[in-house]
Amino acid sequence: MGRSVENREIKGIIIDYKKTTYPPRGMLEGTCHAREWISAATVTWIIKEFLTSTDPEVRFLAENFEWHIFPVVNPDGYSYSFTDNRMWRKNRSTANFTSCSTGDDNSNGVDLNRNFDFVWMSTGASNDPCSNTFAGPQPFSEPESQAIAQYVSHLQKDRHNLIYYIAFHSYSQLVVVPYSHVSGPGVLTASNYGDMYEIGVRGADKLRERFGTNYRVGVSADVMYEMSGTSFDWVKHEAEVPVTYLIEMRDTGVYGFLLPADQIIPNSREIMEFILEMDRVTRRMEYYHIPFSSATYFVSNTIFITAIVLFVMIV
Ligand SMILES: [Zn+2]
Repeated sequence: MGRSVENREIKGIIIDYKKTTYPPRGMLEGTCHAREWISAATVTWIIKEFLTSTDPEVRFLAENFEWHIFPVVNPDGYSYSFTDNRMWRKNRSTANFTSCSTGDDNSNGVDLNRNFDFVWMSTGASNDPCSNTFAGPQPFSEPESQAIAQYVSHLQKDRHNLIYYIAFHSYSQLVVVPYSHVSGPGVLTASNYGDMYEIGVRGADKLRERFGTNYRVGVSADVMYEMSGTSFDWVKHEAEVPVTYLIEMRDTGVYGFLLPADQIIPNSREIMEFILEMDRVTRRMEYYHIPFSSATYFVSNTIFITAIVLFVMIV
């Protein structure tokens, strides 16, 4: 979708089975924060499931949507978390370098999930380059956040049928509903907050049924902390994507960012349960319709004609 500060490609995959001319679209964002390695693993696993699963519900979702999936939107930070600092969070911009009490290298990075141009720097963000939540010198100062915004804007300008946007983070086991700067009655700032909350709760219920993992659902200010300038809030508000979440995956702090590899598959499986239920409820709420494909139309037509012929014969 674009390039990082250090000129790495931000790679993704489009899955489009072309069942219909204009399928609804979904977008998955992984590894905005470098140290949240479970995000890259789970988003990549979802790609694998969409391509190879034989589960009819996974197949339906994979084949009737046009998916835009980006496992690592912060490739510089992700690489740095392997080579230099496992606990690195931000991107690797050196443009705001300064002296930090915690070590000067901490100023080499902007928190991409505070850099989007929606209520930028209003709450839960820092103007100190040494901070892990440094929002950048101005909104969209970073090529990675620009790339995401331009990609989403391009999709929406084209057809305005992006139904889902999910940003995958860790950890805390939360389904975070937009917007992140509001709480109390302020949650109604998001026009369909009630629907998003209900879809989130039902998804979390299905997720729990799989392995008993408990997720809480709500706006960030209620379940975590206030924040501003995040990607999913921007996508919700500026790109008007109806069903938008930030998901904080496993665990609740035993391992934190250092989630053991043997939890990758269980984490991924329960997240798929969430996604499937999210889609069932969203479809029931009529946020989108799958138009009859020509094949389905032919089959239903044939059945109808056969029924008429039989009826005439019987009469
Ligand atoms: Zn994160």
